[in-house]
Amino acid sequence: MQMNVDFSLSRRRWLVWGLAASGAASASAVTLPLATTGLTGRIVVVGGGMAGTTVAKYLRPWGGTRAQATLVATDTRYTSNIMSNLVLNGSREVASLRYTHDRIVSAYGVKRQRGTVKRIDTATRRVLLADGTRLPYDRVIVAPGVQFDEAYGLTQADYDTHTPHAWRAGAQTTLLRQQIAAMQAGDVFVMTIPKAPYRCPPGPYERACVVADHLKQRLGTAARVVVLDANPAIQAEPENFTRAFTQIHAGVIDYRTDVADLQIDPLTRQVTWTELSGEAGQVQAAVVNPIPPHRAAGSGPGGWLTQAGVINSSDGRWAVVNVLNYESTAVPRVHVIGDAAQCGLPKAGHVANQEAKICADAILRALGQRAPDPAPVANSACYSPITASTASWLTAVYQYDPATRSMKVAADNGSTLTGRAIEAAHINSANFRQMQGWFAALMGDTFA
Ligand SMILES: Cc1cc2nc3c(=O)[nH]c(=O)nc-3n(C[C@H](O)[C@H](O)[C@H](O)COP(=O)(O)OP(=O)(O)OC[C@H]3O[C@@H](n4cnc5c(N)ncnc54)[C@H](O)[C@@H]3O)c2cc1C
Repeated sequence: MQMNVDFSLSRRRWLVWGLAASGAASASAVTLPLATTGLTGRIVVVGGGMAGTTVAKYLRPWGGTRAQATLVATDTRYTSNIMSNLVLNGSREVASLRYTHDRIVSAYGVKRQRGTVKRIDTATRRVLLADGTRLPYDRVIVAPGVQFDEAYGLTQADYDTHTPHAWRAGAQTTLLRQQIAAMQAGDVFVMTIPKAPYRCPPGPYERACVVADHLKQRLGTAARVVVLDANPAIQAEPENFTRAFTQIHAGVIDYRTDVADLQIDPLTRQVTWTELSGEAGQVQAAVVNPIPPHRAAGSGPGGWLTQAGVINSSDGRWAVVNVLNYESTAVPRVHVIGDAAQCGLPKAGHVANQEAKICADAILRALGQRAPDPAPVANSACYSPITASTASWLTAVYQYDPATRSMKVAADNGSTLTGRAIEAAHINSANFRQMQGWFAALMGDTFA
């Protein structure tokens, strides 16, 4: 490892080159010229989703020729959850949400290792894969996303066959779309929302709107969508979703809060619960879409992240990290980013991309014996379709607050850290068009 490396120089060169390349006709055919920064390190990244792919990619141009980044991915393809609600109304196909790691391998020199991590040996600093492969590391970055609890009387097999959560895009998304397509006039669609924190705070409300809109187009006002929320209120974009529920989809969406004791029969699709008042609720659904409580993938009893000692949130579900470098607060040299981390930022793909960049920067500084950036900034943007052709959006800028050592939403004028996320003033088709551009830019920044 070397001291006093000028990161700004290699970053500047790369940014200038990257801007030039983005204007070239066939950027995919070229390989980036990497700088010699003097940094040396073996960095293993676990998980080829939004967070893991971004961090593996950016370590290379920022770290230079001898900063090795090895990406461990279970699959050759990644299916984006973002935009997957639009599969449910037939606007998109799951196939259109698939991405590969080919480009970050060919253009950036990331090493790809196909496999599933079974253990991290933090004493000898090795990542162990299911096929017996051992990968030594100087730093390991863990980005495995989430896993889903068996909840409400349902098993993992029930989610796959009868009551899909579709909160990880793939076969369950297709199953849910087929079930919705088979609904008849008078049928009821029931979806459930777990207590926060969960993946994608606006996502469930967005899904309720997309499904309500689609059923209205097909079945008229006979359509009914019952949303059973374990939380006391809408968790993101409250103004726009309240407008959507009470005006745009009035009479179709029936939104209930503080729902407890949910029980779902996967075969009869009978759903029961308790209201805050103590009253019992019951509905006979045609389609049930339970979003179960989730946790960091690899957590829980016997999980590989639990065994590594990094699952240390008070509820035992997430890995608490230092937001200056995303290092575990429990285990040195293990960094956790994306949905698996507890860092005060929302669990979202755009945010995972931001965390990845802060983490990559901090690790490269550490390889050069330098402290992390003392004032990191992250932004979050999220578009939500409300109908098949209109959308709203939500955005926030997060800044580091040294007093609490946490990331806080900056106010509009940037002067204080007590701001709120900003919602779109209108739900309209212009937002829907911008959403496509935002999605293409985010996925391009991650996978291309
Ligand atoms: C319906 C829906 C809509 C959404 N819409 C938006 C949106 O509009 N905007 C937004 O910003 N976010 C959105 N999100 C949230 C976003 O998808 C997640 O926050 C994001 O994918 C998190 O990234 P991640 O890298 O942490 O996890 P993931 O993207 O899930 O990637 C984790 C990867 O790790 C792999 N992995 C797991 N365990 C192992 C192991 N042991 N070994 C090797 N690999 C492993 C997994 O296979 C997976 O490929 C949405 C989510 C859903 C469900």
